[in-house]
Amino acid sequence: MSTYTAVHLAKRPKSRIVAGETFVTKTHPVPKESDLKDGEVLVQTIYLGLDPAMRGWLNDARSYVPPVQIGEVMRGSGIGVVKASKSPSFPIGTNVSTMAGWTELAIVKEKHLEKVEIPQNGKLTDALGVLGITGLTAYFGLIDIGQPKPGDFVVVSGAAGATGSVVGQIAKLKGCTVLGLAGTDAKCSWLVDDLGFDFALNYKAPNFAQMFRAATKGLIDIYFDNVGGEILDMALARAKPHARFVMCGGISQYNEPVQKGPKNYLVIVSMRIKMQGFIVFDYQDQYPQALRELAQWISEGKIKRKETIVKGGLKEAEQALIDLYKGMNTGKLMVEVTPESKA
Ligand code: NDP
Repeated sequence: MSTYTAVHLAKRPKSRIVAGETFVTKTHPVPKESDLKDGEVLVQTIYLGLDPAMRGWLNDARSYVPPVQIGEVMRGSGIGVVKASKSPSFPIGTNVSTMAGWTELAIVKEKHLEKVEIPQNGKLTDALGVLGITGLTAYFGLIDIGQPKPGDFVVVSGAAGATGSVVGQIAKLKGCTVLGLAGTDAKCSWLVDDLGFDFALNYKAPNFAQMFRAATKGLIDIYFDNVGGEILDMALARAKPHARFVMCGGISQYNEPVQKGPKNYLVIVSMRIKMQGFIVFDYQDQYPQALRELAQWISEGKIKRKETIVKGGLKEAEQALIDLYKGMNTGKLMVEVTPESKA
């Protein structure tokens, strides 16, 4: 291989990502070993993780990370393998997770690499899912912000996604009763039959509002919000006094040119709700302890997971990201950039 491809930001979308316009694929010469400086490695991407938050990174706006600049390789987390190394800590053949972005190859400094540790009953892709950013987000959002207690009634939106599916399972491990909200009947069945959620509702069903009111008649202690929009309003209307609203994300609003806030916001006052946003990166110093516990739960079969893996290489990433907002995934969505057998 003398060249490799990477996907660069070409144009900031006004609302939705436009296929063939937002990103551009470019070919680059493969770096030579002599291009590596001490402490650097050449990483070949195996899996690229796709996250709803990526849409926000394309906006030229103040946020928790700087926007991706026009012309830059699109930001993204991935799992790869070290192909050349000037780091004794990361010899050739080491599996690593890194934020190399939408690229087949990247030179990465060792301080930006994590060795992938596969727990018992685990697999390589766990490093992007339960043992990656989304698993950690579920863990810290629920445990630190949600403060779950046995008997609490927890409602999770985006429940069949990478984050939501772990939130619900951790809530069960903490002795809570869990209602998950997802966009298809098949996802709802997976939540209840395979993951052990107590209830699940399809928010696209015509009678969803009525079913939601019935399912939450005991009122909500913790609402873990991945989607915002109308469902957040409905959850506010069913909050118990002193409920905790864990504000993790707002997928329903990411592609909207103007974001809509909750209409029912005065319930926050009348029900003394604690509504708190968080960014998982703030918990970095506690990742090792959380990863140990999550890995233990995987080993014991207490946390189950599914991935949606799009095959076909990096060229599939743009369409897969567009399809993420249409609910194409169950569990973590990733693109297979290089088949594991060929990496
Ligand atoms: P998911 O795996 O949950 O994928 C997104 C899912 O959202 C889709 O599968 C789809 O499923 C659902 N969805 C899409 N559009 C809508 C809509 N309009 N209304 C309701 N649901 C919709 O993604 P992640 O687990 O990666 O991310 C979940 C949330 O966590 C996001 O908001 C993300 O930004 C946030 N996040 C926050 C972090 C933090 O530090 N605060 C860190 C990481 C993620 P369905 O079929 O059910 O519609």
